[in-house]
Amino acid sequence: MPETKFDLIVLGGGPGGYVAAIRAAQLGMKAAVVEREHLGGICLNWGCIPTKALLRTSEINHLLHHLPEFGFAAGPVPAFDLAAVVKRSRGVAKQLSSGVAHLLRKNKVTVFDGDGKLAGKHTLTVTKAGAPVATLTAPHIILATGARARQLPGLEADGKLIWTYKEAMIPPAMPKSLLVIGSGAIGIEFASFYCNMGVAVTVVEVLDRILPVEDAEISAFAHKAFEKQGMKIITSAAVKGASKGADNVTVTIESGGKSQQITVDRVISAVGIVGNVENIGLEGTGVKVDRTHVVIDPYGRTGEPGVYAIGDLAGPPWLAHKASHEGVICVEAIAGLKDVHPMDVRNIPGCTYCRPQVASVGLTEARAKEGGYEVRVGRFPFIGNGKAIAMGEPDGMVKTVFDAKTGELLGAHMVGAEVTEMIQGYTIARTLEATEAELMHTVFPHPTISETMHEAVLDAYKRAIHF
Ligand SMILES: Cc1cc2nc3c(=O)[nH]c(=O)nc-3n(C[C@H](O)[C@H](O)[C@H](O)COP(=O)(O)OP(=O)(O)OC[C@H]3O[C@@H](n4cnc5c(N)ncnc54)[C@H](O)[C@@H]3O)c2cc1C
Repeated sequence: MPETKFDLIVLGGGPGGYVAAIRAAQLGMKAAVVEREHLGGICLNWGCIPTKALLRTSEINHLLHHLPEFGFAAGPVPAFDLAAVVKRSRGVAKQLSSGVAHLLRKNKVTVFDGDGKLAGKHTLTVTKAGAPVATLTAPHIILATGARARQLPGLEADGKLIWTYKEAMIPPAMPKSLLVIGSGAIGIEFASFYCNMGVAVTVVEVLDRILPVEDAEISAFAHKAFEKQGMKIITSAAVKGASKGADNVTVTIESGGKSQQITVDRVISAVGIVGNVENIGLEGTGVKVDRTHVVIDPYGRTGEPGVYAIGDLAGPPWLAHKASHEGVICVEAIAGLKDVHPMDVRNIPGCTYCRPQVASVGLTEARAKEGGYEVRVGRFPFIGNGKAIAMGEPDGMVKTVFDAKTGELLGAHMVGAEVTEMIQGYTIARTLEATEAELMHTVFPHPTISETMHEAVLDAYKRAIHF
């Protein structure tokens, strides 16, 4: 019989849950994870990782169509095999999910396969297909059940014509045309993947710009770049309904007081996510739910003593690294470690792996101004950077936002090749509360695209060299 008494139980084995359990084990706690589906959660199985595998294929497909620009003789471009593309993506996801199982074993974390549910103080029951598996107890229980796709009334995903991210990740055949509803990171990544694989893609966004959480200039830059690639983008537009044909969907879209109908092979609904708060035994506890997310303090504590929540379940930003970081903070606070830093959401970077990539950390220029800051703004285009030109990636820009009074870096915003790898430089600067002085003193290697980060700092103080 497996052990049923633990120091800590984590419900959900995603990047929030499994990282929390490993950190607990490192701190000497006897930890368990209850997972009903796949270790690694949405991130490794249906989110971050398999999308990046698909996007890598679409980048290669793009490059294959531009070989002469790199000195290769023009010739027929090899066709892709969609089944093999999807197989590779699923293989990458499987490899990483198995890696999590190995890490949990290595850290002596017990894994229970089944549905978990709070069942009274310090108790959690596990069932599989309705049959009881175990009743577990622990003084601390972390809820990390994640989130799922939000459904638009009248446009509910049916798995055939209207897809959520799950179906979009494993297309049985390439649609010729596609409508993506919602232009947040998930919608735009799929739009970019399919567009770069040759599909006619239309994106509809209810707000007045795509990637609405990003700085307005970065959104505008990305918008133009996508349109140059052939993507059609309709902003300030609401989807009013859909009628399904045998193998297509006609969607009614209203924008600027006008109504239009678009017929496409498939629709991807990417209109946000809702937390998995149902059927986990929250009723009758002190855990507060705001809309579909559990309310927590900066250490993951809920209103119920001994019950904590982290990750997507605990609200935005819905990002894997936020989930993992919250898990670590929560466990370290439970263990009573000194100097546990509470989560500062302003220092969580956000990345969208479209082409060109988008990445940011901290305040946008508009948010900084709304917050009462007097700002100094720097900008630098990729066209002024030797490495970007050598790589054939001259389209991009970096924007920095400083507090004019103190020189503190308030935010950094990037669009272009490799920016998702580079944003970490500015994130460290934010964490260290760096000012323009330290950033200007920093030596950036040449030739790298990261030099645009230096130049965007210099530009805020009218010292940019190469533009
Ligand atoms: C298409 C897509 C692309 C994404 N790309 C990125 C990206 O590039 N970068 C990024 O940072 N984020 C990305 N995300 C978001 C990221 O996947 C989530 O933020 C992250 O997975 C949240 O982690 P979590 O641990 O909170 O929840 P999840 O990963 O959702 O894990 C929750 C786990 O709990 C389990 N569970 C739920 N209820 C129960 C129960 N009652 N009993 C037992 N088990 C249960 C689920 O099966 C699941 O495995 C993407 C998401 C999607 C959909």
